[in-house]
Amino acid sequence: MESKNNSVISGTNKDSQDNFVSLIVSKDVEDGKFGGRVQTRFPPEPNGYLHIGHVKSICLNFGIAADYKGYCSLRLDDTNPAKEESEFVESIIEDVNWLGFDWGDNFHCASDYFAELYKFAVQLIHSGKAYVDSLSAEDIRAYRGTLKEPGHDSPYRNRSVEENIDLFERMRRGEFKDGSHVLRAKIDMSSSNINLRDPVMYRILHVTHHRTGNEWCIYPMYDFAHGQCDSIEGVTHSICTLEFENNRPLYDWFLDELAVDHPRQIEFARLNLNYTVLSKRKLAALVEGGHVSGWDDPRMPTISGMRRRGYTPEALREFCERIGVAKRNTVVDFAFLEHTLRQHLNKTVHRAMGVLRPIRVVIVNYPEDQVEQIDAINNPEDSAMGTRKVPFSRVLYIERDDFLEDPPKKFYRLAPGREVRLRYAYYIKCESVIRNPETGEIEELRCTYDPDTRGGYAPDGRKVKATLHWVSAAHAVDAEVRLYDRLFTVEDPASVPTEDLDKILNPASLQTIHGCKLEPGIVDVDSGSRFQLERQGYFSLDIVDSSAEHLVLNRTVTLRDSWARIQKANNTK
Ligand code: ATP
Ligand code: MG
Repeated sequence: MESKNNSVISGTNKDSQDNFVSLIVSKDVEDGKFGGRVQTRFPPEPNGYLHIGHVKSICLNFGIAADYKGYCSLRLDDTNPAKEESEFVESIIEDVNWLGFDWGDNFHCASDYFAELYKFAVQLIHSGKAYVDSLSAEDIRAYRGTLKEPGHDSPYRNRSVEENIDLFERMRRGEFKDGSHVLRAKIDMSSSNINLRDPVMYRILHVTHHRTGNEWCIYPMYDFAHGQCDSIEGVTHSICTLEFENNRPLYDWFLDELAVDHPRQIEFARLNLNYTVLSKRKLAALVEGGHVSGWDDPRMPTISGMRRRGYTPEALREFCERIGVAKRNTVVDFAFLEHTLRQHLNKTVHRAMGVLRPIRVVIVNYPEDQVEQIDAINNPEDSAMGTRKVPFSRVLYIERDDFLEDPPKKFYRLAPGREVRLRYAYYIKCESVIRNPETGEIEELRCTYDPDTRGGYAPDGRKVKATLHWVSAAHAVDAEVRLYDRLFTVEDPASVPTEDLDKILNPASLQTIHGCKLEPGIVDVDSGSRFQLERQGYFSLDIVDSSAEHLVLNRTVTLRDSWARIQKANNTK
């Protein structure tokens, strides 16, 4: 398989049983750790839509659970009501489902545990391991120190247990303004791990939560909630990305101090894709800045954007399988994602003919009112997909750029006096060109056909150098077609600050073509069709903007496989 040869995606392992996470889990199962149970979770924060990076985490968490006959839950880490919305919750549920994963009854939210988390906090105050601090956010930051310098203790650090309990209860009752107090863990202000310098556990936020409403005005920090939620649910393997490696000692500290069960935390490298940003903050900035039409814009690397663009869940899962799971950060080539998608579409979707920029062709020696039904193959990769009938008649459309009046040397398609094949149909020859008398623009090509070449082959063995796709004008279905290119002009947009993203946007990332002509019968408005338009790429019906009266197609991906070309060049070196 091509992917093995490229360092951009090293760490690739086709067999998920072999990835390092799986090896750890398998050893735990063998050793009878957690009673041989495997329970994982996918824990998104509902502050944006899921993206292709999340797909990697979803496939890993659900995949490991399935491999070891355990289960994976979907847990929303909804601890920050200021940034979270039900719209995001709904999209997360829809997207994980669409990818093909099932959490059964195991849907949870951190907010389900707010009462328990509060009790845990009180427990830590009682054991002298947490205190209410009344420094400002700014001072807390200043007291924290730096990587080189230790922090120092807050003047409120030695409040008595009674005073802490009293203040914390009053925080919970809503007696204080946002930012006036926080609850902090009492660990070590001089720890070399900054996460352990008395991290904040609770802050006051007089904000309505999308699930708990106004029941709470203090909310736990992610770092305080996360490990305890895992423990409450009985998660055995808490799989997360590398940046949480330094938080692990903190999660362990909380669980140890609370004397509750620990999951094993395993960190893996997040997915990075070139030409793509995978930070929810940056994706949100694109949406809020109006640079894309929404989270589901087909140029977005979100699951909903990719779904709308025409990606299949199978291709996304296969992509994650192929890139594998490793400890080392790498950047995956976007072309590899498209290559994987193309391979799946190539095997599974119907071929059809569609003309994006039509020019009329009149076959002057073809009977005026005759219509023939021509056999066409649905998928040359899979004969079981059968054939279909395509209507052929006297007036057709072909692609405007398949004709040149004055062709250069290597142009083999249609030109005056030249013969070409119409796919599955006949040889035609261009006899004359009709121009608009006012604009001089070519309006129509007059051609003749050879009735003996039906099926696209000449009995006398005469050859043509080009085969063109076509659509019968009287039968054509109109559509708007949207062609896409990369959203960013630079290879590493992730390194560009959010406020400068508009400077690196590709102005040609969306090209809209109106008046395209499709072969009849290929689009089903209700089911959201996908197909290959011969010579033009893979397309899918836009599920948002299409209606029975107005079809909109998205080009999912072109036919040209730059990944396969790079691989071929590498292999022949
Ligand atoms: P962002 O930093 O963009 O907000 P996040 O990591 O905070 O993303 P979460 O909603 O917290 O987003 O992510 C849920 C899970 O998905 C986490 O376990 C996280 O590690 C994982 N995840 C997020 N991005 C990636 C990625 N690019 N590759 C692999 N896993 C990812
Ligand atoms: Mg996060």
